[in-house]
Amino acid sequence: MTSTLPASSGIDTTLSPARALVCRGCSARYPLAAQHACYECFGPLEVDYDTAALATVTREQIEAGPKNLWRYAGLLPAGQDPAARVTLNPGLTPLVAAPHLAAELGLTAPLWIKDDSANPTHSFKDRVVSVALTAARALGFTRYACASTGNLANSVAAHAARAGAPSVVFIPSDLEQGKVVTTAVYGGDLVAIDGSYDDVNRLCGELVETDEFEDTAFVNVNVRPYYAEGSKTLGYEVAEQLGWRIPAQVVIPMASGELLTKIDKAFSELVEVGLVEAPAGGWRVFGAQSAGCNPIATALHNGSDTIVPVKPTGIAKSLNIGDPAAGLYALEAVRRTGGWMEYADDDEIRSAIRLLARTTGVFAETAGGVTVAVLRKLVESGRLDPAAETVVFNTGEGLKTLDAVAAQVGPTHRIKPSLRAARDAGLLG
Ligand SMILES: *Cc1c(COP(=O)(O)O)cnc(C)c1O
Ligand SMILES: [Zn+2]
Repeated sequence: MTSTLPASSGIDTTLSPARALVCRGCSARYPLAAQHACYECFGPLEVDYDTAALATVTREQIEAGPKNLWRYAGLLPAGQDPAARVTLNPGLTPLVAAPHLAAELGLTAPLWIKDDSANPTHSFKDRVVSVALTAARALGFTRYACASTGNLANSVAAHAARAGAPSVVFIPSDLEQGKVVTTAVYGGDLVAIDGSYDDVNRLCGELVETDEFEDTAFVNVNVRPYYAEGSKTLGYEVAEQLGWRIPAQVVIPMASGELLTKIDKAFSELVEVGLVEAPAGGWRVFGAQSAGCNPIATALHNGSDTIVPVKPTGIAKSLNIGDPAAGLYALEAVRRTGGWMEYADDDEIRSAIRLLARTTGVFAETAGGVTVAVLRKLVESGRLDPAAETVVFNTGEGLKTLDAVAAQVGPTHRIKPSLRAARDAGLLG
């Protein structure tokens, strides 16, 4: 509980449009504190807003704002006061037109890659961490923590370093070196655990209840409702970058499933508060998992409302959450919008990373490979309409998972440093 901590102002509802935490299961309401589960039904809590406060935000205000996610501060639970932010100022990442990829896959309508590898620590996690830690600071927390599949670790450690705050980051011990080094370099405690992400998460759920961690915000545990809201900014940005339009189709990678539900929520909010008109026929949300960790897609394929946890395997480690906290809500969003989910195996992921790189100049991590491989499957199966505008989310950077493709690519020629050698190798045509 935060009540014994040194005085803190809490979430300032004269600035923030947030009003309460509300249970996604039974709709019970709670104050804007550090709480993530419902006392009545143990369901996850979500931030609830004053719609009238959201509706005061205008396009002009947003467009005049900073060139990062804080331009949407009026639609977020915290961060309205710039001086009180804990942030690397992520966001406003490129929306890249992908005509060559579209042609190769047989899409006739515009295809876009929302490239979130351009964030400060090179994944979309900077968005959720900036919002979570800004809320955490307002709630009086002085140390920052997380359970991570890799990218969250990078982002929490870097945010803590920027803020001059201590951090303690928990990861499975088998993570890619590119994710361990890019976390450890920021200093802070980095705890590698011999177990899966789901084991790491369970331990963090126990630690957060101890007196010793009373001062600690675990971004995806005790302040998770605020964390989750950060993902909405990806949806806002896509709409703004398309000239205040919502695309007909979006393809989104899933770990916990939270990102997918929040992009859908962002579109709904934009329509609700009158910033954007819903596209004719609405938008359709598609989810992507790997074959090594596909509990949400499997439930959809089986027509089931129960998500059966799996023990994850495979190279898409950033998506390896075997017991996905927002899985049911991702299922709901995909069913409601008439989308679908697919999964891709490791070979398909590798080949999709190379396809994306070769056709767009974007080098994605394994999660991006999953998403592009799934895009291809959705087009092939006819689930995705090739004649409708589509946005695909690349959520992470290929340099962090080099091993995925390192054995498949390299120099196409190797020659002595002479004109003759260049000619002999056929380089002069
Ligand atoms: C965490 C992560 C995701 C998915 O996040 P969820 O909100 O848990 O579904 C997607 N891509 C990358 C690269 C990630 O690190
Ligand atoms: Zn409840």
